[in-house]
Amino acid sequence: MDEVSLKALAKINLGLDVLGKREDGYHEVRMIMQSIHLYDRVEIKKTKSPNIHVETNLFYLPVDENNLVYKAAKLMKNEFRIKEGVRITLQKFIPVAAGLAGGSSDAAAVMVGMNRIFNLGIKQSRLMELGLQIGADVPFCIMRGTALAEGIGEKLTALPSMPKCPVLIAKPAVSVSTKHVYEQLRLTENTVHPDIDAVIENIRQKKLRGVAENMGNILETVTVKEYPVIKEIKKVMKENGALNAIMSGSGPTVFGLFANEKEIRRGYEALKESGLAKNVYTSDIHNNRR
Ligand code: ATP
Repeated sequence: MDEVSLKALAKINLGLDVLGKREDGYHEVRMIMQSIHLYDRVEIKKTKSPNIHVETNLFYLPVDENNLVYKAAKLMKNEFRIKEGVRITLQKFIPVAAGLAGGSSDAAAVMVGMNRIFNLGIKQSRLMELGLQIGADVPFCIMRGTALAEGIGEKLTALPSMPKCPVLIAKPAVSVSTKHVYEQLRLTENTVHPDIDAVIENIRQKKLRGVAENMGNILETVTVKEYPVIKEIKKVMKENGALNAIMSGSGPTVFGLFANEKEIRRGYEALKESGLAKNVYTSDIHNNRR
């Protein structure tokens, strides 16, 4: 096998809490990561020349060392002394800088794909460890499914499958820097933290409504103030059938969970009508681990 074509799945956060700031400046988090059926397509071909060549459909994305797929290929080449090169074709569908871990998932796909086409036989746990060098979300994107991420996001614990449901994804036309959001976050005694354990308990009991009711993202305390459109999108979703709607990661993407296809149709139409979001997608939960 000289080439492989893989899906790089996006993630949402069913819960995101920040416990505090460590002395080294990193934030201590507790997040529930969930893969969804919204994906980029990553094709990897072996080449005789030793170079890494990246092509993508988005003209504004870098195709050099600054692209996470390039970084992943370089890391694999160095670590496993691969002499040949790769030609990577990246078709982006996941919105960029949206809180959906698109870039991390592309990097994860390259690591998994190169492991296959070069017959390296590397265990998934080793790939996950290596992936952390590229970004905190990469190990989860290698693993997929549902997981609790702790520490600075690197301590992963697999959770039982999340109940399946339709998921509405909406990204407004604003860009948010993850670094900026964390810098602006102020935690005081009065800060209301999402109940991550309640979300986990409801996942265990397969109670979709219970999961939805307990979802929360502490980073909204920063982003909603700066971009009120996030709150407006949540409102439209909730008034049009969503069991609940929150922001994913550091935003600005909002997602809503729905009980069935009829309800998500209603949410989708209302959101389109509102003109609040630049990208609107219907998706669903992806439970299978790699
Ligand atoms: P997270 O949820 O992990 O914070 P994100 O979804 O907010 O991630 P990404 O789409 O992964 O953000 O990318 C953020 C930045 O990384 C962009 O500014 C982009 O220029 C750069 N980047 C590098 N490689 C990629 C890639 N393959 N896909 C998307 N962005 C990339």
